[in-house]
Amino acid sequence: MEKKEIESLVRKHIESKFSDRDRKEYIVAANWKMNMSAKEIRRFIGEIKEEKIPNYLKTVIFPPYPYLPIFQEMLRYDRIIYGAQDVAKEEQGAYTGEVSAAMLADCGCSYTLVGHSERRGYYAETPGIVAKKAAAALRYHIKPVICIGETLEDRQNNRYRDVLKIQLDAVRQEIGDVLSECVIAYEPVWAIGTGVIPELVQIEETHHFIHELLVSYTGISERASKILYGGSVNEKNVKDIAAVHFVDGFLIGGASLKAGSFINILRLLNVDGR
Ligand code: PEP
Repeated sequence: MEKKEIESLVRKHIESKFSDRDRKEYIVAANWKMNMSAKEIRRFIGEIKEEKIPNYLKTVIFPPYPYLPIFQEMLRYDRIIYGAQDVAKEEQGAYTGEVSAAMLADCGCSYTLVGHSERRGYYAETPGIVAKKAAAALRYHIKPVICIGETLEDRQNNRYRDVLKIQLDAVRQEIGDVLSECVIAYEPVWAIGTGVIPELVQIEETHHFIHELLVSYTGISERASKILYGGSVNEKNVKDIAAVHFVDGFLIGGASLKAGSFINILRLLNVDGR
C-alpha cells in the first residue's frame, strides 16, 4: 500500500474513533521524570496555554514534585491539568522523603502516576505497594494512573499476560470495584525510552486483554475504561497508535519534554483542528 493510502486510512480511523458528538475522552499525559528546571517549565506552560486543545483531549502533565506550585500558580483556571509522578502509601508521619496524597491534593493535583516501571524496578515497588499507593491517592480524590507492563523477557516467553494480571490483581484486591475509576497505562518496559514500540497488533491484543480483565473485575463498559499506551511515543508514531482499538490515550516521556513536540502530538490527535 502507498504511504498516502496508509495515511488516509489511519486518518479515517482516528476520525471515526472521535466522530460521535459525545466523544470519548482521550488522555494525553506527559511524564517528565527527573527532568526540567523552573525556568523551562514556565516557558513550557506559557507555550501550551496558547494552544487550543479540544475538550476531548485531556492533557495531564506530571512534573517533579518541587515544581507543582508553578503549575498551581500558572494553571489555576486552565483546562490543562497536572499531577505527581508518585505518592506515598502512608497517610502522614515519619516517612522521610515521602510525599502524601493530602499534600498532592493541597498542591492542586488531580492525578498521580503509581507503579511506573522505573519505580517498580529501581525502588523495588511490589504490586502490593503500588496498590496501596493507588488507594492512598483515591482517598484524596486523586485519580491514579496505574502503570503496568512486562519486561522483554516476559514478552518473549509469552508470560506478559500473567505479569499484567498479577499487577492488576493486586490493585483490585486493595480497592475492589473502584478500579473502574482509575486510569491504566500499559507501558511495556522494553518500549520505554528505547525508541522501539510493539507491533500495532500487539498493542491492540494487549489493550484488549487489559480491558477484558477490567470488565471481569468491575463490569466496566468500553466507553468508561481508560487504557493508555506508553513507551517511545513520538510525533511519527502517535497517529498510528491512536487508531488502535482500546487505546484511550498516551503516557509520553521523552517526547513530552519539549513544548514543540508535545504540542505537535496534541495537534496530530486533534481531528477538529485539521
Ligand atoms: C514513560 O517513562 O512513561 C515513557 C513512556 O517514556 P518514553 O516515552 O520516553 O518511552
